[in-house]
Amino acid sequence: MDMGLAGRWALVCAASKGLGKGCAQALAAEGVRLVITARGTQALEATAAELRAAHPAIEVRTVAGDITTPEGRAAALAACPQIDILVNNAGGPPPGDFRDWDRAAWIAALDANMLTPIELIKAVVDGMAGRGFGRIVNITSGAVKAPIDILGLSNGARSGLTGFVAGLSRQPRLASRNVTINNLLPGAFDTDRLRTTLQGAAAKTGQPLEVVMAQRKQGAPARRFGTPEEFGALCAFVCSAQAGFLTGQNLLIDGGAYPGSF
Ligand code: NAD
Repeated sequence: MDMGLAGRWALVCAASKGLGKGCAQALAAEGVRLVITARGTQALEATAAELRAAHPAIEVRTVAGDITTPEGRAAALAACPQIDILVNNAGGPPPGDFRDWDRAAWIAALDANMLTPIELIKAVVDGMAGRGFGRIVNITSGAVKAPIDILGLSNGARSGLTGFVAGLSRQPRLASRNVTINNLLPGAFDTDRLRTTLQGAAAKTGQPLEVVMAQRKQGAPARRFGTPEEFGALCAFVCSAQAGFLTGQNLLIDGGAYPGSF
């Protein structure tokens, strides 16, 4: 299916690895020109080189910086001539017990996983409405639907974003101008982030990481983790020309792990 995106520009945040990279790859395959960001240059430039090699006709620009800072966001926005597609992503907050989190820990989580996407949306959304096309995808987490107790910072910050997006996406000045805002909720995907989280569980129980990973897969309906490619494919569809009537949704992609009917 031609997704009608060739020649568009996308800003994909936190895209040197994992789910953000999966989104960048899928958009590049649709002919979308990219600005990708990450904190460190090495993995970022390696990903950019991969994208350029796979899609020589596509322009890929890189911006190294922390997207959760005003400077990082300004640099990312400045690098993109026109933002038709915005994929909001950043690292997730650390696990822990809420009794140990002080105000600074909460502010850091809110900054990264709620206020940063809101700031970027604010910077781009009215331009999108003016041009009559815009797709905003926020990478959140399955934890928004089914909270994970040790990820309280994530549960809280991402739920705040979810509530905000539910209201904003339904503003007629956006929805009637072909600007959509949706959240993608990953379950367990095989990325560095998942390995780091499971490494913590492995250290606690004294089991090897491989054993913890195998147990986790065995407990899931799909008996496997998702791949960044699968995640990217969903992102590309949500950004497609055809998906203009899809807005304000929370799309869970978890291989059936969430046990509810809705
Ligand atoms: P990952 O660790 O594999 O990749 C994270 C990417 O983000 C890297 O490119 C890293 O350089 C970049 N990054 C991190 N913090 C950044 C920052 N402040 N500024 C710029 N770039 C930054 O992680 P992932 O698995 O792809 O996860 C992406 C998001 O999805 C995270 O918020 C994570 O918590 C969430 N999530 C992941 C899973 C999963 O199973 N992988 C499940 C639920 C939610």
